[in-house]
Amino acid sequence: MERIYIGMGSNLADPAEQLRSAALALARLPQTELVGVSGFYQSDSLLPGQPRYTNAVAALDSHLAPLELLDALQAIENGQGRQRLERWGPRTLDLDIVLFGDRLIDEPRLKVPHYHLQERAFVLYPLAELAPADLRLADGRTLTELLAACPFVGLERLPAA
Ligand code: ATP
Ligand code: CA
Ligand code: CA
Repeated sequence: MERIYIGMGSNLADPAEQLRSAALALARLPQTELVGVSGFYQSDSLLPGQPRYTNAVAALDSHLAPLELLDALQAIENGQGRQRLERWGPRTLDLDIVLFGDRLIDEPRLKVPHYHLQERAFVLYPLAELAPADLRLADGRTLTELLAACPFVGLERLPAA
């Protein structure tokens, strides 16, 4: 059983509802328990001209292997109408594996920790609601250190629904 953190994002078709549906789908995964879901945040799109994103992080305990989990996440994305038209294009649902226990994964389809974790406030701040502050990445940095280097800019925490 390993503790896994999933970054969730949506900027199409009622984003908050997309994230709630995604959390229900995560809770139904085999050999997996949904441990928690952070609050929801709004963030500016990384590319100009797109609607703002709604983001959250979910914590799972799972016996699934990393690539099995990635397949399951992509099936959930597709089930919620994800279309892959352009890189970083607007999407109904994006599910990224942010952390998988303390594993370092470097496979063609899967890099963990997620390679943009440290510069993405919309992942770090919701992650900090669920993970211990002394959580340490493989390179030795703690979550507290990552947060200190990533200002809470362009981000808005939404009131609980
Ligand atoms: P970004 O990775 O910058 O957040 P994105 O989420 O928009 O971009 P996608 O189009 O959703 O990118 O995914 C492209 C590919 O990234 C996926 O098909 C998957 O194989 C790969 N990938 C690599 N590492 C991960 C990870 N940690 N979690 C999810 N997908 C990953
Ligand atoms: Ca992503
Ligand atoms: Ca993705």
